[in-house]
Amino acid sequence: MNQYFDTHCHLDFDCFDGDRAGLLSRCKALGIQRFLIPATRFSVMEKLETLVSCHQGVYIAAGIHPFFVDKTSLSDLSLLSEYLKTSNLIGSKLIALGEMGLDKFCSNDFGLQKEVFSRQLEMASRLSLPVIIHNRKCDQAVLDLLDYFNVNKGVVHGFSGSYEIANEFRKRGFYIGLGGVISWENANKVRQMVTRLGLTQVVIETDAPDMSPEWLKGKRNTPETVIKVVALLAELLQLPVTTVADTVYRNSCNLFGLDGLGQDV
Ligand SMILES: [Zn+2]
Repeated sequence: MNQYFDTHCHLDFDCFDGDRAGLLSRCKALGIQRFLIPATRFSVMEKLETLVSCHQGVYIAAGIHPFFVDKTSLSDLSLLSEYLKTSNLIGSKLIALGEMGLDKFCSNDFGLQKEVFSRQLEMASRLSLPVIIHNRKCDQAVLDLLDYFNVNKGVVHGFSGSYEIANEFRKRGFYIGLGGVISWENANKVRQMVTRLGLTQVVIETDAPDMSPEWLKGKRNTPETVIKVVALLAELLQLPVTTVADTVYRNSCNLFGLDGLGQDV
């Protein structure tokens, strides 16, 4: 059976409270072994830690999402920095910082978004942890900050930009996070870009409960959809599903410094 790693799913969200355990065991029966849950703000860390202790194969990241940047973010950054000094999960279960980044479509103060993002990049650089980047319409600003803080490991989450921009990220050691968007009816440009990308530094993620694939439009997305997304990617690349599944699983483990055996405790 193929192994899968959903490198970006918000399983801490309330919409999973009713059936999280059942969903995770369904996923594991399908070969989906590992799940990375990015944080959206500091206050969720307690819930993320609980999920780690209750469920095998669950990994977490710590960070502040641009959607949640507000006047409390500066004090949250201090809390985050303190937390990272004492957490005993770093490197074992806490395997990245994020999700963090810049979003031009979001109404939160852009200067503040930049500051919150920068401070997190500084922490990632200090701790040598990969980062999970949320980027909408801010390619150059994000690339400049990665260079400035010398951050060279991470993933550009939910990528749907150009092949050239993907390569700018790959050149800097970053991975490209692909998900349900490749199945969207109107996403021909994304499919063309993905076909050129190949599998180098590519990982698969769902962003559940959001970014639902075409066949779930308007409904809750879950990590179960990685299987069909990988199959679709295999079709686009004209490669066997097993080759694609193995490669993106290995890519994900490499990116986050985990062994590729899929044996989780
Ligand atoms: Zn997300």
